[in-house]
Amino acid sequence: MKNSKIDVRYIAVIILFLILIFPLSCSNQKLMVEKESKPFVILKLDDLWNKNDVVHSGWREVMAFLNEEKVVGTIGLIGESLEGGSEAYYQWIKDRHREGHEIWHHGFCHCKPIIDDVEKREFRGTSFEYQLRQLYKTQKLAQDKLGIVLRSFGAPYNAVDEFTAFALKEIPEIKVWMYKESAFPTDKFLLDRIPEVNIEYPVHQPDFEKFKAGYVQHSTEPVLIIQGHPRSWVEKPNRMEEFKKIIRFLQEEKVTFTTPYLFYMHHKGKS
Ligand SMILES: [Zn+2]
Repeated sequence: MKNSKIDVRYIAVIILFLILIFPLSCSNQKLMVEKESKPFVILKLDDLWNKNDVVHSGWREVMAFLNEEKVVGTIGLIGESLEGGSEAYYQWIKDRHREGHEIWHHGFCHCKPIIDDVEKREFRGTSFEYQLRQLYKTQKLAQDKLGIVLRSFGAPYNAVDEFTAFALKEIPEIKVWMYKESAFPTDKFLLDRIPEVNIEYPVHQPDFEKFKAGYVQHSTEPVLIIQGHPRSWVEKPNRMEEFKKIIRFLQEEKVTFTTPYLFYMHHKGKS
């Protein structure tokens, strides 16, 4: 009799334990799956230039906000700005680099050279030698003035051609190519654009609702590279607010913010 009483209690404890623990472990599993399926997000922020020795207010505000939110971003540096920049300008870039934001190669002049009376792009319609020179100049200036090896590239206007692929091959320390919108083969790690998911609709105008609609459609992607131009966001008051809404939304979504080179390293480590 005594033994069967103990057995009943023992079984009751086990049943209670299962009732409590089983749903808990299921919901934990669900949480884990949900978290794992959230995309990585790269903020491809373009066009850091040096004007009158000061960093543009758009850039200062955006980077201060990202730091406040503990979000890592990127800075598309235009090499020419390192030719006649001030110490304060260089220091600002170095500080952002030290904070973990990635400084990346966004061409040398961001210009539209005229060749045989035809307007070209820095990396489309120009010669291999020209493109290689532009790439080298920025790479070397970043090394000399900032002590930074640039690891990722994105062309001005995202305009490239076959020579861009050949020229980039000459610079092995550049590992990542963002928005390569041409079919020519490359040895670089590619991070592509999903046109429906961007910060700006149209270019220069952040739009939270449009972003959200695109994000919802593509949130199962492993990585979203979203482009923006911080200098344009101080031109009208609501632009910066729209950008901030996007970031806060992504924070609530619990995405993982990363940079092109970090993502490449992460990917390389896995493969
Ligand atoms: Zn640009």
